[in-house]
Amino acid sequence: MRKTFFCCIDLDERGDGFLQKSMEEFSRLLSLPPIQIDYKFEPLSANLKEEVVSVIESKPDIGNCSNAVQYYFYNKFGYSANLVVLCPPDSALHAIALQSYPSALWGISNAGLAVIYNLDNKYVVWHETLHILGADDCYDLDKGNRGPNCELNNCIMQYEATKENVGTWPFLCKKNISLVKSRINKWQNAIRSN
Ligand SMILES: [Zn+2]
Ligand SMILES: [Zn+2]
Repeated sequence: MRKTFFCCIDLDERGDGFLQKSMEEFSRLLSLPPIQIDYKFEPLSANLKEEVVSVIESKPDIGNCSNAVQYYFYNKFGYSANLVVLCPPDSALHAIALQSYPSALWGISNAGLAVIYNLDNKYVVWHETLHILGADDCYDLDKGNRGPNCELNNCIMQYEATKENVGTWPFLCKKNISLVKSRINKWQNAIRSN
């Protein structure tokens, strides 16, 4: 089973509380139809967080950060894991993310790493975490389409994932429901996932 950890960087306890609550609520939503999968997110312990932060912040771009996180967990535990990070807009990680993807104004995700810097918006936390779980974006900025460009008016994978645009569960289109289900199922069926 592939784990997904979460942590805040450079935020106070209010940030920790917000992220913890957001991830718990997200687990609960995933357990409901139409996904109905039991998948829990785990807080990263303080000592691991310190090590991971130093690994991440020394990298030049978000792809390298993501690879470094995988490598770190693999060396530490013998298995790869995902990481969701919440950090303030003036943090080192925010600068790395924006340099890699200038249009990623609120958050970014690359393979097993999601970085969110739009604070107090759980919908962005969920959007970026959904990428880790296999979901694709439902917008195409190149074509001036901020989405959703799928069949669901309140799909969370649109460009501006806000309370107003997304609302209540279920807020994921058919294609992404199937992508997320198949990725988590694959993790759950693997004895060891790399
Ligand atoms: Zn996205
Ligand atoms: Zn969609």
